[in-house]
Order: sequence, then structure tokens, then C-alpha cells
Amino acid sequence: MTAYETVIGLEVHVQLQTASKMFCSCSANYAAAAPNTHVCPVCMALPGVLPVINRVAVEKTILTGLALHCRIAEEAVFARKNYHYADLPKGYQISQYELPLCLGGWLEIETEAGNKRIGITRAHLEEDTGKLTHVDGYSLVDLNRAGVPLLEIVSEPELRSAQEARVYLTKLQSILRYLHVSAADMEKGQMRCEANVSVRPAGQQAFGTKVEIKNLNSFRAVKQSLDYEVARQTALLEVGRQVVQVTMGWDEEHGHTVVQRVKESSDDYRYFPEPDLPPLSPLRAWVAEIEAYLPELPDAKAERFVVQLGLDRRDASLLVAERAVAEYFEAVVQAAQRRELGLQLRNIANWITGELFRLMNAAGRSIAAVPVTPEQFAELLALTAAGKINLNSAKKVLGIMFETGRPAADVVQELGLVQVSDSGALSQVVARVLERYPDEIAKYRAGKGGMLDWLMGQVMRESRGKANPNVVRELLQKVLAEG
Ligand code: ADP
Ligand code: MG
Ligand code: ZN
Repeated sequence: MTAYETVIGLEVHVQLQTASKMFCSCSANYAAAAPNTHVCPVCMALPGVLPVINRVAVEKTILTGLALHCRIAEEAVFARKNYHYADLPKGYQISQYELPLCLGGWLEIETEAGNKRIGITRAHLEEDTGKLTHVDGYSLVDLNRAGVPLLEIVSEPELRSAQEARVYLTKLQSILRYLHVSAADMEKGQMRCEANVSVRPAGQQAFGTKVEIKNLNSFRAVKQSLDYEVARQTALLEVGRQVVQVTMGWDEEHGHTVVQRVKESSDDYRYFPEPDLPPLSPLRAWVAEIEAYLPELPDAKAERFVVQLGLDRRDASLLVAERAVAEYFEAVVQAAQRRELGLQLRNIANWITGELFRLMNAAGRSIAAVPVTPEQFAELLALTAAGKINLNSAKKVLGIMFETGRPAADVVQELGLVQVSDSGALSQVVARVLERYPDEIAKYRAGKGGMLDWLMGQVMRESRGKANPNVVRELLQKVLAEG
């Protein structure tokens, strides 16, 4: 039996976060408005109008290109992509074809076999279409979205599995958000993916015939449709049949791909340079200025967290996935350092990726909606580091801080959670508890070491969770040894 290899290349469309549209001054905030209220003669394609290039969209494209290690073209040219559809009032889309703004970059992804660079063929600017709503028998057109700036990022066919495609998309989304160029939410259509996929016998150089799957609007759809296509194409080749080059859609409900049309070629679009717009020749000084805006990106941040702060890789990558989370973590670290807590930074990382993430997931809240300030978080950790409250109490307190935004000390006071470390007071509790359990004590002495934890649990309960577990353990060991 022949083994087959999967080949995937992704085309990703990203809505840029700009105040106005790509070629006119209408608001780009299409979703918030009543249909056809964010429109003007330019984006409605009335005769005699001229487009004007949105400078911020160009800047955001260049910024993204730089983050993806692309070369920024000396000259980029807008081109008309001609086709007819009811959501496209001009009868063509202004895009970039032969001379895109960004070329030849890469994005690094983590795979089971180590890190891997996926080539970025190009990133170019274009405009979004309007939106159709189909009501029985006729269709309604809303042009609010027509002309919203779109960035298209095309990868080389270098992804080798649906899983790698998913990781690539996640990484790309993270970078786009770091750069504040797009909200990049797939469910909201701010990031859309077209997946090109083929299979070939392992070891064969030439690519197999590819299929393009359009309009994938969730990570799940990308993964599932690719898994489906790989299986379908492999099954065809195994019985000696051929894959036909087509454009497909993904039927989420039934879990299979559906042929939409036989693949069009670029000839069908009759591309030609847009006569109403000058070529874009970004000055090198401008590109350098934009480059100065590049923030520290997730990979570099993770590396710094590992090397400088001593975190392990897994925690570091969990913390950097979202810029706001990474910044929150660093703010807690700084607050802790101001207090000279001598806290292990690794410990802070654990609190955030453990307890805080758990609370956020359970409540469906993003870091922006967490009312606990980094300062307050550090204060809570200070209380545990100083032995004022034990670990279990600290978790309970964090839960209440998360719900109410109240400071740790307040909550500790109110719940009476101040940890008891005084061995005088605790030996009384220990003595009281031991009196009740002669059998268990005998078992412990007969060599059943596990009984110690059980007895500890009883003492902790008796103290209503407030006892310092370390002191309790020592006391118990001492008393039991004395016999
Ligand atoms: P098209 O002209 O059909 O759009 P392109 O060569 O421009 O094709 O590539 C579009 C996307 O398809 C790119 O992301 C590219 O990496 C990917 N791709 C190209 N050939 C293959 C193939 N044989 N299998 C899988 N993906 C491919
Ligand atoms: Mg394509
Ligand atoms: Zn307009």
C-alpha cells in the first residue's frame, strides 16, 4: 500500500481595522449600522467617481508584511479583478495581482517534529464585497461592507496536515492581533480562510491536483474540511482514479465538501492595472517608520520569558498567545518585584495559566473583563508568600476577587481565612483530632504511610481550612513518632 502525503496552502482574508473604507471615506464599521447607511457614490459604484487609497490600510498591510518577514515592494500596483455578482457593484474588485505590496516572507509554527517555517508567498490589499440576504425568491443587497479594506495573505504549499494548517492559522491570528491590524475573529468573518489541498504518493516530487475549499469561517471548519478532503482524495488515488481540480464549499451540517464550480483560472478574471489609481511606491523612510511600530511578537516574547524569566516553554507559549494576557502577566511580575516578594516568577506564571485561566474559561471572560488588577493579584500572592493564607484559601479568595473586584486583604478578613501557623494553637487542634482516631493511628504506625495525609486532612478540616499545612504536617509527624 502506498503512503500518501498531504499538501496544503492557505489563502487568508483579513478585514483591516480602519476607521474608513479602502477607497472612500465611508465608515468601515459595517456591522453596527442599518443596511446601506455607510455608503457613498464611490462604494456604490456610481458613474464618474474616483477611488482614493486609504493610507492606514497601506500602513497596516506593510506592518503585517514586516511581521511576516516579507519584502515590501518598491512598487505595488492595484489591479481590477473582473467578475459579476450582485454583491459587487462595480463589476470588478480592486485588488493587487502581479505586483502585490508584500512578498516572500515566512511564519514559524510549532509541530510535533519541531519548529517549521511556512513560506508566505504574498500579502496584498483589496476590498471586501457587499452582503446578500436571500429571502424567498429574491435577494437583498447591503453595501455597508462593500469597500472595507481586506488583506489577503497567501502561503506556500508547505503545510503537511490539517493540524499544521490549524496551528498556522492560530499563529497568524495571534500576530494580527498583536499588531492591532485586525480583530481577526473567524466567527465574525474578520478572518476567512480558503484552503487548497492535494495529496501525492510519499516521496513524489510533483504536487497532486488540488482542490480549493472556500469560505471557511471557523478553525473547526478548516480542520474538519481538510481532514475530509484528504481522506476523499486519498481514497480516489488508491483505486487509481484522479482528483478533479474544483472549487468546493464545506457543508458543516453534513460534514462533507460540496463541488461549487470547476476551478476558474486567473484568465477568467481579465486582470488589468487599475487606471484610476497610481502605483504605490512606499518610501523606504516610511517603511522604516512603520517598522519602528513593530511590537515584540509572540515568538520573541516566549523566548524572553524562557531565557530571562526562567519559565518553561509550555507556560511561556500559553502566556504569549494573547498580547493582553502577556502584558497582564508582566504587570503582575513587576508589581511582585516592587514588593520584593522574592516570588518565583514560575509560580506567578502557574497562577495565571492555572487558576486565572480556569476562572476565565468558566466565566467566558477575556482578560480585559477580569476585574482583578495586576497590583491586586500581586497582593494576593504576597499574602500566600508571607504565609498569611494557605494555598487553598488563596484559590478561594481569587475566585471572589474575580467575581467582585475586591482587594485580597478585604476578602481574607471577611472570610476569616487568616492562616494559623502558631504551633501552640495548632498542637491543640492536632491533639483533639488524634484522640478521635486511634485505629487510624495504629494503621499509620503499622506502616500505612498514606494515613498521614488522611489525618492531615482531618486537622485541616477541624481548622476550617485555615491551618498552615506545613506546620500541621510537622506537628503530626512529631506526635506520631513520640507514640
Ligand atoms: P490559484 O492560481 O489556483 O489560486 P495559486 O498557485 O495562486 O493557485 O495558489 C493558491 C494557493 O494554493 C496557495 O496558497 C498555494 O500554496 C496553494 N497551492 C498551490 N498548489 C497546490 C497544491 N498542488 N496543493 C495544495 N495547495 C496548493
Ligand atoms: Mg485562490
Ligand atoms: Zn463609500
